[in-house]
Amino acid sequence: MTDTVKAWIEERRAIQASGVPFSDRDSRANFPRALTAIEAVLGVHRPDQNGECGECTVIHHGNWHVYHLEYPCPTVRVIEGAINHD
Ligand SMILES: [Zn+2]
Repeated sequence: MTDTVKAWIEERRAIQASGVPFSDRDSRANFPRALTAIEAVLGVHRPDQNGECGECTVIHHGNWHVYHLEYPCPTVRVIEGAINHD
């Protein structure tokens, strides 16, 4: 686990221990790093000119492995599902 993830978890625990109502804890002001992380992930998992996720598409020139993943890729679908409570 990276220091960044540890710090994020500690921040979440501190917010939960503060007793602040859930609706307030869930606000952008109280989750800036979590939202920044989500925005960063969604920023790289974007459709390319072929409608495929540019981040998940893998091309290995050694053995010519080409793997294309349609957008939205599983990463984007998981994030969107969590936001939409699917
Ligand atoms: Zn992707």
